[in-house]
Amino acid sequence: MKFKIAFSFVVAAVFGWLSPSVQAQDLGPGFTKVKDGIYVYASKDGNSTCSVVLTEEGPVIIDACQRPPDTHRLMAGVKKLTDKPVRFLIDTEVHNDHTFGHWVFSPPAIVINAEGAGAAMKKQFDPKRTEALAAESGEMAEAVKGYKMVVPQIEYRNRMTINLGERIFELIYLKNVHSDADTAIWLPKERVLFSASAANVKSIINLRPFVRIPDVLASYKLMNSLNPEMVVPGHGAVTTTKIFDEYEAFYNLLVKRVGEMAAQGKSLDEIKKELKMPEYADWTGQNNLPQNITVAYESVKK
Ligand SMILES: [Zn+2]
Repeated sequence: MKFKIAFSFVVAAVFGWLSPSVQAQDLGPGFTKVKDGIYVYASKDGNSTCSVVLTEEGPVIIDACQRPPDTHRLMAGVKKLTDKPVRFLIDTEVHNDHTFGHWVFSPPAIVINAEGAGAAMKKQFDPKRTEALAAESGEMAEAVKGYKMVVPQIEYRNRMTINLGERIFELIYLKNVHSDADTAIWLPKERVLFSASAANVKSIINLRPFVRIPDVLASYKLMNSLNPEMVVPGHGAVTTTKIFDEYEAFYNLLVKRVGEMAAQGKSLDEIKKELKMPEYADWTGQNNLPQNITVAYESVKK
C-alpha cells in the first residue's frame, strides 16, 4: 500500500500532476489554464470567473465563484494542484456572485478587498439567502452547509502590492466602475490582468447609479496602459485588451447619442424612449440599456 502511494506520487510528479503544469482538463470541466500555475474556473458562459494562482508559498484565489457549488469545485481543483493552504483570497468586487463563497476558503485564507467593501457587503447581506439557496436543490443544500458571512479581513486604499513566493500581485483600486469596491489585479511578470467587471463580454452591464462613465473609460485606459498579454474579466472567457476597446466604443457612442439628444432639449425620459443602439443588438443585457442611458446622461448634463 505504502509502495503504491509512493509510486503514484512519483508517476504524478513525472507527468507534472501536482505541479503548476497541470492541464485544465485534469481539474474538471469549466477550468481554463491561463499560464503555468494560473487557472480560471467558470461553470458556464457569462458566469463570474474565479481563479487560482499557485505560488511557492501557497495558492492565491481571485474571486469566490458564481454560486456555492462552483466555489466547492474551484476548491476541489485547488486541492488537485497543491496541498498548501490557500493564503489569500482577493476580491475584484463586492457582489455575491464574486464574494458569497468566502467562507469556503477563509479561514485559513485572508480575504482582501478595497476600502468600503466590508461595509457594502454587510449592507447588501440578505439573511434569507442561504435558506433560499438550500431550497433550490440537494446539491445546493449540500454546498451551503457551514455557510457564514466572511467580510474582508484586509481593506486597502488605492494600491497594494503582495509579494508571495515567486509572484507579485499588484492590486489597483478602480473608482466608480461597477460595485462599491472594485479591484484590478495585475501580475506584472506573467503579464496577466484580472480586470474585474468594468468590462464584460458582449453584454450591456447592469450599471449602478453611482457608476460614472468617465471613470469607467479611465479604468480601461489604465488597464490598457499595463499592456497585459491576457485579460481575465470578472465574467466571460479569458481574452485580451480588445475587451476594453469594445466597451470604450460602446460607451463613447452611447454618450455621444445621449449628448446630442440632450442638446436638442430632450428630457432623460424622452431619450430613454427614443435612443437605440442597433450596432449592439447582439449583446446580452438589452434590458439594462435604459439605466445605461441614465448613467450616460449624468456625464453629459451640465
Ligand atoms: Zn457585480
